[in-house]
Amino acid sequence: MADLTIVGAGPVGSLLALTLARRGYSIEMYERRPDMRRVEIAAGRSINLAVSTRGLHALREVGLDAEALQSAVPMLGRMTHALDGKLALLPYGRDASEYINSMSRGGLNKLLMTKAEESGRVRIHFEQRLVDYDFTRKMARFEDGSEAHAPVVVGTDGSASALRAAMGGDVSQELLSSGYKELTMPPLPAGGFAMHVNALHIWPRGQFMLIALPNQDGSFTCTLFLPFEGPPSFAELRTETDAQAFFAKHFPDAVPLIPGLAAQFMAAPLGKMATVKTWPWSRGSALLLGDAAHAIVPFFGQGMNAGFEDVTLLSAMLDRGADFSKAFARFAEQRKPDADAIADLAVENFVEMRDKVADPTFLKMRAIEADLQKRMPGRYLSRYQLVTFTRVPYRVALRAGEIQSGILADLARLEPLDYSRGVQMVEEHLLPLLQRHLAP
Ligand code: FAD
Repeated sequence: MADLTIVGAGPVGSLLALTLARRGYSIEMYERRPDMRRVEIAAGRSINLAVSTRGLHALREVGLDAEALQSAVPMLGRMTHALDGKLALLPYGRDASEYINSMSRGGLNKLLMTKAEESGRVRIHFEQRLVDYDFTRKMARFEDGSEAHAPVVVGTDGSASALRAAMGGDVSQELLSSGYKELTMPPLPAGGFAMHVNALHIWPRGQFMLIALPNQDGSFTCTLFLPFEGPPSFAELRTETDAQAFFAKHFPDAVPLIPGLAAQFMAAPLGKMATVKTWPWSRGSALLLGDAAHAIVPFFGQGMNAGFEDVTLLSAMLDRGADFSKAFARFAEQRKPDADAIADLAVENFVEMRDKVADPTFLKMRAIEADLQKRMPGRYLSRYQLVTFTRVPYRVALRAGEIQSGILADLARLEPLDYSRGVQMVEEHLLPLLQRHLAP
């Protein structure tokens, strides 16, 4: 019998299977969908996603970071598009070595499944949808009526997890009042990218925004985030004419670059986003991981990164012969505050991306922050950098961000700017918090 059963062969489940297989465990996986390597399926709604340090670290642990990066496009900063077409690049990192990577979600998922199977210790059963788990008999039950004995089970079955439902814990689900639609900006007719390739493009417009991430084939995946109801909203965009007029008014520079925009818009499914918090994450030798335990809104680009980090942390707790129920409970206790922190940070970043990046006070604070960084090279890291380019626990990044906001607001009030005061405040209030977590 296999050591573990994993339900859900998405990116997190597949990485978990591969990681544990490399450590000698044998695994049976059950996946609701057909095998996406053989059948064309709309696997996941976000076509590409941003992978950063936490995700890359987990991939490195299974020797796959270099291979995954080969099919990625580096994004060095946010390129904001003003209404008049003016562009501004806000770099993400301290220098050109710090960037995020646009990767195909399906491509990464396929790579992880293949490598897991190639380990010889993982068997994936496709088109097997878990409908229930019997905690007394330790049996997983599937939609087709079949059952499997699964004494140790991990649910990586996404934000609507069936294992979570069977566990019967507390679940809170906060639906965002905005939804999203994805459109494709193809390569130029002569080939090549229609916009600056190494950036995450944003058209911040207050209550809504458009973003675009590059793909290696020269296209961009554009995502419109907009409220469901009220002006302006998806509810108002009922026809192709409505959609065309909306884009022409708010994103005029993008319109000529997206052929068939209105038709694409009408055909695209309207996606929902939610923060799901649940507790407990474990019950006996059953555990939830990834979106099943902590689905978050996508605005920090951390959902999958956080799930991959779960795998790193859990794997470190599973010594051969470990008592699964104890390890699962310990992992859940330690990880939950970090999952809650990134959930809150992701909601805050929504406001920052769609709204504040066009706000002069926000931009002033960011400029002060950039100056502070120059004065304290390698020592001052912004909240974004802590989340994206380090593996500092998310809860520490959240707290650091609160301290930083206080310092930056204080400095912004003073005329002329007193950077020595800023440096002193950082040394007194911020560095002691971070020292423990950052390598010297
Ligand atoms: P999922 O990807 O949901 O996979 C779950 C798997 O389980 C699927 O294969 C599913 O078919 C299967 N399954 C479901 N139910 C059952 C069942 N009952 N039985 C058997 N199998 C089942 N994250 C980032 O890190 N960076 C980004 O830039 C980013 N951008 C995003 C943009 C958008 C618009 C969205 C919506 C999300 C984004 N995310 C991003 C989040 C990321 O997509 C998720 O965090 C990630 O996919 C979670 O992986 P998972 O394996 O836990 O769950």
